[in-house]
Amino acid sequence: MGMDRSNRVIGIDIGGTFGRGIRGALVDGTGSEITRKEAVRPRTSQEELIETVITMASRLAELAHRDGAPASALGVAVPGLVDEALGVVHRSPNLKLQDVELARLLQDRLRVPVFLVRDAGAGALAEYTLGVGRSVSDMLLVVMGVGVGSAVISGGQVLRGAHGAAGEIGHISIDPAGMICGCGGRGCVETFASETSIARRYTLAAKEAILAEEVIAKATAGNPAAVRVWNDALGALATVIATAVALIDCELVVLCGTMGIPSEALAPLGTLLANRINLVQLPRVEVGGLGGDAGLLGAAAVAFERSGAGNPAREWRGSGPVPREL
Ligand SMILES: [Zn+2]
Repeated sequence: MGMDRSNRVIGIDIGGTFGRGIRGALVDGTGSEITRKEAVRPRTSQEELIETVITMASRLAELAHRDGAPASALGVAVPGLVDEALGVVHRSPNLKLQDVELARLLQDRLRVPVFLVRDAGAGALAEYTLGVGRSVSDMLLVVMGVGVGSAVISGGQVLRGAHGAAGEIGHISIDPAGMICGCGGRGCVETFASETSIARRYTLAAKEAILAEEVIAKATAGNPAAVRVWNDALGALATVIATAVALIDCELVVLCGTMGIPSEALAPLGTLLANRINLVQLPRVEVGGLGGDAGLLGAAAVAFERSGAGNPAREWRGSGPVPREL
């Protein structure tokens, strides 16, 4: 089946990994967003979170229906450990979800096929099909958001592994005696390089509570405490990215996140990687091109692919539309 403007699906990113809050859009077969919705992510209960997703999906479905081209499927990007085949969220520490049959719960209420995808995998698929990864076949995507998520595209495919967690480098511990992480471990990369950790480490060092992006701005301006925190974040990332590059031999490392990191702040990462990667070809490092939309566009791509409506990885690359600026 060809993919055109009359094919539509809904993509929702509930993570807070690529953007703050819950983001959803009605996406057509060319990869263009027709309309979008945003909602604050409820922190009180699992039920409220699910209700918010249902309300958003229903409104988008209604709009599509009124337009005469109903949405045929829903893709949902979720952070954490997700069984994509069964539609179950096993563990999502940042959303406090545990063993939830999310696809079935949503499907029962919305009456369309629902497909779950790990959010970093969704983001990687989106950057590969519509963003900065359009000219490569092998890439690593790292997202610095509430947590640190990552995923690998290898030979044009999202690497899944035995349990769907392949390429997840954010919870490798580089300091087993370090800070406690949301996953229960200590000293994970996430405890150095997530938005939350950058802000927390700076607050501990400088006794001043500011946002992560302000810490990064201060680091760029030479503030010693901020420089230390930001260098530790980049150092932690470089250590695990170098290992990933040795394993997958990718051409491109894509960095993205909620913080809107200026590329000059990321410049030292290139040097840190060059000092750590030998023999294997050094990859290019780029900031993601889709910003906060990567998760929902990837979720939409997955909805097209798994519902059998088309193959975005093949059809959107090359001829895809230029991603819309937020
Ligand atoms: Zn962890």
